[in-house]
Amino acid sequence: MSLRLADRISAMPVGLKLGATMMGVCLVVSVSMLLLFHDVSMRHIVASLETSLGNELWHIQRQVDHLLKLHGAGGPAQTRQALERGMAHFAPGRTPGGSFAFVADEHGRVLAAHHYRAAVLPDRRAIKALLLRGHGFTSLSTPEGDIWLRFDKERNSGLLLVVQVSDDQARALFHRAKLTVFWLALIGSAVLAAVAIVALRRGVARPLRRLTAEAERVAAGDLTPPETLQRRDELGRLSAALRKLTISAQDMIRSAEANEARFRQLFSDSRDAAFIVGHDGRLSDVNAAAVKVFGYDNRQEMLDLPDTGPMFADEGQRQAYLEAIFAQGYVQDHHTTMRRKSGQAFEALITATARGGGEGRFGLVRDITEMAQAQAELRASEERYRRLVENAPGIVYRWCIDTKRFEYLNSTVERITGYKADDIIGDNDIMVRAIPSDQRQRVLQNWLSQISGEPPAVREQQFAIRDCQGGLHWFLERSILVRDDQGQPTYLEGIGFEITERKRLEEALREGQMMIEATLASLPVPVMVIDSRHKVVHWNRAMERISGRAASEVIGTSDHWRPFYPDIHPTLADLVLDGDYDAMEKHYGAKGLRRSSLVEGSIECEDLFWGESGHGRHLYFIAAPIKDEHGRVIRAVETLIDITDQKNLEQELRLLSVTDELTGLYNKRFFHATVDREMEIARRFGQPLALLMLDLDRFKQYNDTFGHLEGDKALAQFAGVVRGVVRAADLPCRYGGEEFAVLLPRTERAEAMVVAERIRAAVEAMDLWPVAADGQRQKRRVTVSIGVACLKGDLNQDRLINLADQALYAAKQAGRNRVIGECPLAQDGRD
Ligand code: GH3
Ligand code: MG
Ligand code: MG
Repeated sequence: MSLRLADRISAMPVGLKLGATMMGVCLVVSVSMLLLFHDVSMRHIVASLETSLGNELWHIQRQVDHLLKLHGAGGPAQTRQALERGMAHFAPGRTPGGSFAFVADEHGRVLAAHHYRAAVLPDRRAIKALLLRGHGFTSLSTPEGDIWLRFDKERNSGLLLVVQVSDDQARALFHRAKLTVFWLALIGSAVLAAVAIVALRRGVARPLRRLTAEAERVAAGDLTPPETLQRRDELGRLSAALRKLTISAQDMIRSAEANEARFRQLFSDSRDAAFIVGHDGRLSDVNAAAVKVFGYDNRQEMLDLPDTGPMFADEGQRQAYLEAIFAQGYVQDHHTTMRRKSGQAFEALITATARGGGEGRFGLVRDITEMAQAQAELRASEERYRRLVENAPGIVYRWCIDTKRFEYLNSTVERITGYKADDIIGDNDIMVRAIPSDQRQRVLQNWLSQISGEPPAVREQQFAIRDCQGGLHWFLERSILVRDDQGQPTYLEGIGFEITERKRLEEALREGQMMIEATLASLPVPVMVIDSRHKVVHWNRAMERISGRAASEVIGTSDHWRPFYPDIHPTLADLVLDGDYDAMEKHYGAKGLRRSSLVEGSIECEDLFWGESGHGRHLYFIAAPIKDEHGRVIRAVETLIDITDQKNLEQELRLLSVTDELTGLYNKRFFHATVDREMEIARRFGQPLALLMLDLDRFKQYNDTFGHLEGDKALAQFAGVVRGVVRAADLPCRYGGEEFAVLLPRTERAEAMVVAERIRAAVEAMDLWPVAADGQRQKRRVTVSIGVACLKGDLNQDRLINLADQALYAAKQAGRNRVIGECPLAQDGRD
């Protein structure tokens, strides 16, 4: 019953509960007010009673005093009499409170009473107590209830005068006061309660109701965030919190949905087989990969399995998996053997989470058949490499930095040195002692610095090892420092190839090289060799002498031109090295550049060098390429021969010569000397003398067409023709470039004209085969014009030559290719 009441109260609206509480509070307040007012009004009533009884008493006293004065002081009897009379004068009801009065003597005996009821008359003890107090106001308990008394002890007679208010009057007074107080309190409380209820309804109950409705709406699933109450008290905070809660609930739902979607996505997209096991131990979901991995036809077929048993190769594997997952609540990469629908077993790794006390709830299965195969292949390949390394031609080793021991050595070490690999692995010193003592320090130092991490991490060194028989083997060792994941040096790995044979060949080669160099150095001919980068590699002693430069200054540089040219200039060797024939033509074309018949591909030329010493030297130099076995030019050698003396001699000889170099005819110098002498003889002996002046026709054109060299060849051929036509006594000479003169001693004019004509005709018939620009030979002819003069009178040499020249000019003027004599009358020539 009380429980139901408690339920009902708890279900009551908060407003109602608050109102009821307020009512209770008001009730308590009004009762307290009632009591307070009662107390106050009682005091007031008692005070007014006291005053009115005091007045009453004053009247009685005056009356008694008057009587006593009137009748004089007699004995007690008289006094009592006077008192009784005075009392008789006391008019009851004259005062509002005064009703009864009595007089008592000093022994407490009542002497006279007026309208006083014996029932309520105080007993003697009480009267004596009043006598003791002398005067005052008091209430006394009587069998009829409380009575109110005003008392006073008369000074002269010692009598006690007492006045008492009537019961009815007092009761009426009290009653009225109580009623007033009650109504006042009641109205006050009611007003208070009404105001409180209105305020509570507005301030608390209504917003609370709204909040409740909002909360109920949210709880029902409508997550639209409610408006917050614009207040700062608990209700305001509660509403803000409700709004926040709604928003965060919305967010949580959204993120839960996203998570769910992501999980679904992951689940279905996972390339590993994913499964979910329900509470009943059956598969509740699997992804497409699972269907594929386990080889089922479709998803439903897998979901129809009674449990996960058919997924495992056997029950033992499944139990092991379940135990593992029970033990820690999850498994990660649990290695097991699973089974496809076809019954084929496969290796797999399971990662799964368990639900409390049950089977794995969600799991991933990775088919590692291929991985396992790959591992097997890796092992096989490792085995293959091990075999390869074992049989490698070089010594392969791995030295552990941590244990300071060889960890691996292939069997080649035993084949070469005779020491067993296992012995060396057990004792580093075998290897250290095998290195000859003069190399040991260097080799060990190199290894130590490498394992200490000093770069480079990959190194190469050569050293020898003495085998157990004492034989020396040279090795080229390449070592590499291996570091672990943290970058700490862990191993020194290396391979050593035996290079003993190579060393021997190198030694032989070096000796051969030294021989060559010694030979080159002591050759009496200046020789220099440049390498493919145009750097000097040889500069022998003879070269030092001729150039004035020490080998040490020049070797390794490209300064080999310096002793010979004022500015940078390619030497013949540089050009031969580059095979640059255009540049050769450019720099050495005018210096007698030609191929040398001495060595294939060699070029020679000569030049006058002023060099650094300042006096000109004529050098003849030959440069030849040096080729490797594939025919590639790798170096060039150049030798110099000082031909200054020979050149000077040639020059002197040339000065002494009487013939022209190109044509072999007499030269001009000889001609002049001879003409004078022959004119002298002719005059002295009165003999005739004729002079022919010849000039080739349009020879400039010939030169322009075929070049100067071809022109020279034509001149030489022409000279040959002239020589063939004239007599032995005649004097053919080259007078200038393509001008010739023939002195005909003892020859008459007519005869001279014949000779001239014969020359002209022979020249006209002469075939020339110059090489044209296209490289082909072409057949050509040239003609010559000839002027003839004869000695007569006192003609001097100049005049004679002049006459012949004039005749030649006339022949040219007349159309060329003809002979004209100095006198027009004597002209005789072709038309
Ligand atoms: P022409 O005499 O018929 O008037 O005509 P040309 O072209 O022969 O004229 P000229 O005699 O004035 O020119 C001489 C030319 O002969 C100039 C030059 O090309 C050539 N010549 C002169 N001396 C030599 C020489 O020693 N060798 C060669 N190859 N040519 C020369
Ligand atoms: Mg000429
Ligand atoms: Mg000419």
